[in-house]
Amino acid sequence: MHDLADVRVFVYRRFAERGDPPRPEEVAAEFGVGAAEALEALGALHDAHLLVLDEGRRRIVMAHPWSAVPLGFVVAGRRAKWWGGCAWDSFAIPALVGEECLVATHCPGCGRALALDVCPGEPPTSDLMAHFLVPIPRMWDDVMFACGHQALFCSEEHVGRWLRVTRSPRGALLDMRTLWLLATRWYTGRLTKEYRRRTPDEARALFQELGLAGPFWGDEAPERDSGDRPVSQGLRRTEPALLARSDPAVLAPAARPATRGGAPGGRS
Ligand SMILES: [Zn+2]
Repeated sequence: MHDLADVRVFVYRRFAERGDPPRPEEVAAEFGVGAAEALEALGALHDAHLLVLDEGRRRIVMAHPWSAVPLGFVVAGRRAKWWGGCAWDSFAIPALVGEECLVATHCPGCGRALALDVCPGEPPTSDLMAHFLVPIPRMWDDVMFACGHQALFCSEEHVGRWLRVTRSPRGALLDMRTLWLLATRWYTGRLTKEYRRRTPDEARALFQELGLAGPFWGDEAPERDSGDRPVSQGLRRTEPALLARSDPAVLAPAARPATRGGAPGGRS
């Protein structure tokens, strides 16, 4: 097989250009290899947390910041539209594709539709707030759950409302400027072959530059009073797209739709 970095860049660029990921057969055709070899390369990228495959390890579900499945965010550019994996991912896409995009979602606190223009070159001016539920060191415990709970809210008050209704622990709050700086800097170079994942130390250095410090951001080990379980345990499992659309009444347990089984591509 070719260099895995070539496969990764092919997947990301396809996502950027067309709005969806290549199928494994298309990866095989692109690199002139058999289907098994293409799947092996995609599996290696999944294991390295450079993309996310479904449970059967046959289909690309996410290649951050893009998602092949709805997770509550739509990002619309001039040439294509994408599912944004979360607030963080959606704010990264305009800089990666080099054009202003409309980012749309719902406030989980009140159900109101939220939309804002996000530019590649400067942060949006908006009073919306982002809330990240899952601490950074636990993100890959269940990456689909973590992405599905990095949402935009009307205000801090609506974050509080949602936390009470869902009995969720408070995570991290970010204003729109900080979210934009985090997103654009985190994903810089993502479409190039030279890109590599940050080490934990490099990630912490970036977070600290943006004023994001403390255990949530990996500065020290998260509290272990709940044992060593991922944050997603003990919370109701929710379908992120439904969550983002829900108003508090819909979030009442009796009214919840049956939740799906394990999220695709979870722990790896
Ligand atoms: Zn709201």
